[in-house]
Amino acid sequence: MKHIAIIGAGIIGASIARELAIAGCRVSVFEAYEPACGASSRSMGWINASFVSRKDYYEMRLAAIQAHRELDAEFNGALEIQWTGSLNWEAREGKLDELAEELGRFGHPVKLVSRDELRTLEPELADLPPKALLMEREGTMEAGSVTRLLLRAAQDAGATILAGAPVSAIERSGTGHVVIGAAGRIPVDDVIIAAGVMTGELADKCGGKLPMNNEPGVLIETNELPFRLQHTIWSPDVHFKQLPDGRAICGNLYSGAVGDGELEDVAQRMLERMKQRLPNAAPGLKIEKVRYGVRPMPVDSYPAIGRLGSDVYVAVMHSGVTLGPLVGRLVAHEIATGEPEKMLEPFRPSRFN
Ligand SMILES: Cc1cc2nc3c(=O)[nH]c(=O)nc-3n(C[C@H](O)[C@H](O)[C@H](O)COP(=O)(O)OP(=O)(O)OC[C@H]3O[C@@H](n4cnc5c(N)ncnc54)[C@H](O)[C@@H]3O)c2cc1C
Repeated sequence: MKHIAIIGAGIIGASIARELAIAGCRVSVFEAYEPACGASSRSMGWINASFVSRKDYYEMRLAAIQAHRELDAEFNGALEIQWTGSLNWEAREGKLDELAEELGRFGHPVKLVSRDELRTLEPELADLPPKALLMEREGTMEAGSVTRLLLRAAQDAGATILAGAPVSAIERSGTGHVVIGAAGRIPVDDVIIAAGVMTGELADKCGGKLPMNNEPGVLIETNELPFRLQHTIWSPDVHFKQLPDGRAICGNLYSGAVGDGELEDVAQRMLERMKQRLPNAAPGLKIEKVRYGVRPMPVDSYPAIGRLGSDVYVAVMHSGVTLGPLVGRLVAHEIATGEPEKMLEPFRPSRFN
């Protein structure tokens, strides 16, 4: 039985671990801190294929949506994915006709809706634009809880999860590797680095090239809204979704470094924008929690999935929530069988050589 080490217990590591354990591999997951402590629990959790312009990437994301539906069915709805679809007038800097036409060419079901239609679709929303895109296929979920569920399922299938076990180095040894870190020196047959924002650094230590341009982001969690939103809302200055328990998660397209003092201001500005969009919730709307996270981002913004040279395997990407279940399945198949997955070919890290 092949022994595979996975470094990182975010949604990517967890998805791969579950699939590999089910495929009959011996799996050890090394997590520096605790499962789902990185980007996966600080994400907006939007599952989408709606704003991409490369067909291969669009097709990957479309397959990823289907993989979520299948996973959701396998877990009998325990992932709590909300297939609400979204209303969006921030995409492509407002060039909605252009985006609708492009997605239409891919065969994506997207509709341009008027202000009047928007009012019917989302009666609590104020300050409405003349038109927006209705993206019916999209969903959202809380990726931190889903990651923990996937890890539990991986354990049930025989995987070992080592928390508080940072990996500091990976050495080649015979036909396999030795994983070196707080858990000691562990010999394994193969290694997958799924360490989110730290993937580039670990790759570097293994002599591989994986330039990253990780991007910070801020979200706020609010108290319960006094009504139910029917969609995830994407406006140019703020976006938000409602959780099954009535609370909301809100973000904006903020990107860049943010100091401690600034975090409060950024969060407060987001709350004010959300109040403008939802005036009937405004009087009692409060911030319950601020989530600060960093998006793992290969420098060209596309996923990097595959071998660094002929050595260790990496899996790192933004939109890891959208892509996680699909990538878990494809990577596990490649590792367990040695057969390359065609869908992953355009996203190999060798493009950086
Ligand atoms: C604000 C924000 C909003 C986002 N919104 C969306 C969205 O709407 N839709 C979407 O699809 N994506 C979104 N993302 C991106 C998405 O969250 C990430 O792509 C995804 O969570 C990455 O998962 P991961 O498993 O690669 O990384 P992580 O969840 O960060 O997990 C990596 C793990 O590796 C561990 N680790 C690191 N180094 C080591 C080491 N040396 N040894 C052992 N363990 C190590 C870390 O502790 C961590 O637990 C968002 C991200 C942010 C920050």
